[in-house]
Amino acid sequence: KKFVYSFNEGSKDMKELLGGKGAGLAEMTKIGLPVPFGFTVTTQACSRYYQDDQKLADDLAGEIFEKLAELEEVTGKGFGSKENPLLVSVRSGAKISMPGMMDTILNLGLNDDTAEGLARLTENPRFAYDSYRRFIQMFGEVVMEIEKAKFDAIFDTKKEKEGCRFDVELTAGHLKTIIDDYKALVKKETGSCFPQNPGDQLMEAIKAVFRSWNNKRAILYRQLNGIAEDMGTAVNVQAMVFGNMGETSGTGVAFTRNPANGQTALFGEFLVNAQGEDVVAGVRTPQPIGEMEKAFPEAYKEFLRISKLLENHYLDMQDIEFTIEKNRLFLLQTRNGKRTAAATVKIAVDMVKEGLIDKDTAVMRLEPAMIDQLLHPRFDDGDLGGAERIAKGLPASPGAATGRIYFTASDVVAAAENGIAAILVRLETSPEDLAGMAAAQGILTARGGMTSHAAVVARGMGKCCVSGCGELHIDEEGHRLNIGNTVLKEGDYLSLDGTAGEVLLGQLKTVPAELSGDFETIMGWADELRSLGVRANADNPRDAQQALDFGAEGIGLCRTEHMFFEEERIPAVRRMILADTEKERREALSFLLSYQKDDFKRLYQIMGERPVTIRLLDPPLHEFLPHTEDEIRQLSEQIYVPYEKLAKKVEELHEFNPMMGHRGCRLAVTYPEIAEMQAEAIIAAAIEVRREENLNLVPEIMIPLAGMKNELADVKATVERTAQSVMAREGEQIPYLIGTMIELPRAALTADEIAEEAEFFSFGTNDLTQLTFGFSRDDTGKMIKEYKEKGIFKEDPFQSIDEDGVGWLVETGTKKGRAVRPGIHLGICGEHGGDPKSIEFCDRIGLNYVSCSPFRVPAARLAAAQARI
Ligand code: ADP
Ligand code: MG
Ligand code: MG
Repeated sequence: KKFVYSFNEGSKDMKELLGGKGAGLAEMTKIGLPVPFGFTVTTQACSRYYQDDQKLADDLAGEIFEKLAELEEVTGKGFGSKENPLLVSVRSGAKISMPGMMDTILNLGLNDDTAEGLARLTENPRFAYDSYRRFIQMFGEVVMEIEKAKFDAIFDTKKEKEGCRFDVELTAGHLKTIIDDYKALVKKETGSCFPQNPGDQLMEAIKAVFRSWNNKRAILYRQLNGIAEDMGTAVNVQAMVFGNMGETSGTGVAFTRNPANGQTALFGEFLVNAQGEDVVAGVRTPQPIGEMEKAFPEAYKEFLRISKLLENHYLDMQDIEFTIEKNRLFLLQTRNGKRTAAATVKIAVDMVKEGLIDKDTAVMRLEPAMIDQLLHPRFDDGDLGGAERIAKGLPASPGAATGRIYFTASDVVAAAENGIAAILVRLETSPEDLAGMAAAQGILTARGGMTSHAAVVARGMGKCCVSGCGELHIDEEGHRLNIGNTVLKEGDYLSLDGTAGEVLLGQLKTVPAELSGDFETIMGWADELRSLGVRANADNPRDAQQALDFGAEGIGLCRTEHMFFEEERIPAVRRMILADTEKERREALSFLLSYQKDDFKRLYQIMGERPVTIRLLDPPLHEFLPHTEDEIRQLSEQIYVPYEKLAKKVEELHEFNPMMGHRGCRLAVTYPEIAEMQAEAIIAAAIEVRREENLNLVPEIMIPLAGMKNELADVKATVERTAQSVMAREGEQIPYLIGTMIELPRAALTADEIAEEAEFFSFGTNDLTQLTFGFSRDDTGKMIKEYKEKGIFKEDPFQSIDEDGVGWLVETGTKKGRAVRPGIHLGICGEHGGDPKSIEFCDRIGLNYVSCSPFRVPAARLAAAQARI
């Protein structure tokens, strides 16, 4: 087996083997772009390294040295040569890009001798020592695991002592003493000298990069992004080019389009006289890419040409790293650029217009999970107008965030766990801050540009971020923040406007986002593609309107119990529950009837002729009653029922297992008058709206939690009797449907019998999952987390449908239902209706629609389209 590939032996389709970076370098080499030559040690070699107890086997090492000899030949330099030393970078790169999560070492091959040689050869000692000190630090951190802070302390002390404000002001002499101090540090920390043999350096570096696959932040990144653990990383060994050779050299990063808003214009940053990591690490604030035209006119022109070429070649926006060595441009990386959801939408639509991609491709580019970002709130105009802007930074990632400030990632995580909305404030973020960034509402940094770690990661997470806010004076130890005259302590409120890059004092109200025309366009394409219908779960006019605005085609689930909790109704609900006789109960219900009718009328008015599925009362009655002694006393005074009687009733209604108790259709079997009231409200409301607005409504009445045909038939008879009498009274016949929820395993297994009574099914997969696994959905959160950590569950079955078990029941129910009633309408409601993976499953087994919460409707439309591509 071959474990090492030269850059001219690979291509962009070899990501699995060469990693994303390696495949990109190979592809660019193949199409003739100026890429420093090198080779890639494959991801399979990484697996082998782990199999071999973290050793590099002899044959593997042999292959590496063969390729190294080839590299010496191509570059005309010698590895370890004093006269003309070959220096390389050793770069990580997995199949899926994990920016900044793993390690890279630059300038490898330097030692005391080659550094002298390089100084002589280039007649630029400053450059040679600058490269050497960078190498010792990177090697020390990555391979020897010496803390970064210890190197930084030496460097910063020297800078201060010599009165240098910027790194570039340090002279060759200064750098030489830094090198000595670094070497002493290495000796002190590891007990041995800094390795002088370049071959050893290379082997150690490659192993360290393999190990970095398993560093904490990489593992966390994979967890957050659902990336498999077993892929491993490739290692790229590449001849160095030098951006730190003086004023005619530099380095930069650019996106071919704007990754924040998608505008078609080169977007990026560069630094003169600097090496690779300086730009991303936010050490110095870089210059905008446009200014490169002045600094390096020739290289700039060439870069414009190549960036267009790469975009056309990959048919996607590219994120490109480059270095200029003595006015010559070199490319060091290209990949599909990470971008915000808004930018994804604009770029996809623009690229279709430009004829680069087709509509299917455009629809596939937008991930359902990203849509959330687009629907994210912005600040209320009124609040924003009155707010005090205390600082301005870079608009690194759009959106609005309000919360209490914290200065460390772990404090943010702790706050978030206590339900506190938190803002992470840092000098600059590093990959170590990932967990805090994920838990924060928004991120604010003092340093770093638009391509800094904070900016890139925040955009990926769809999280509001303001970066490079130079006016911040952060006292990390004291947990304080000074901005001008304002002093803020940990826990104080701050607001961030990531779209404008502004920092605002205090807590601001947020309002929902408006969607762009491009978004409508791409969703229109998705709607053309999908065959699955998308409805919403909505219980009130506000949600129904929201759902419509987001493109819902109907209401798949209206939970009537939510209507019962409203303030003016709850006393009547309680009187109904506490009634001793049917007569009393009917009296209380008649009071509720007019409210219910109005509820339904308002829903019908909003939804027009679109289907609206209304579910009869579902939860156990005791949920409507008070539980503590105080509450019961209070209620007893309110409704003039003696305390003892009330307490006794509460006691009676108490259930050990309420979710498997007196609820669902069982309520309607034992108290038919509840179902009668609701059926009357539904039919009467439909008749009235039909008359008033001349609409053809077909109400859908859904009976919950039926497990057998007979109990469904019992409730259905009640509903039909009521409907007939209402229609007779009103002198008007209207069509209506009676269906059921399939949420008990028995219902799914006997769906053929149930379909004899039911005119439609809605799979209630929340209860179905709970009852199939026997996991209480209200109590298992913590346990499921542990099950996931142990790998027992790949995914939480309450979020993404368990295809083998619960999914099989749904599929069985589908087949059995259709066998008896071929045209039966089948849908799904519950969490799974908004989960892209479950939606794909629903499409596959041929359901008619999914129903999900209003905010998930656009994502569901998109996922349904993607299921078809
Ligand atoms: P990351 O994945 O964190 O971006 P990279 O491997 O891309 O890590 O390298 C880090 C930095 O070093 C980048 O800015 C890159 O351009 C620079 N770099 C990597 N290899 C070389 C090289 N051969 N010559 C000059 N700069 C390099
Ligand atoms: Mg890179
Ligand atoms: Mg249910």
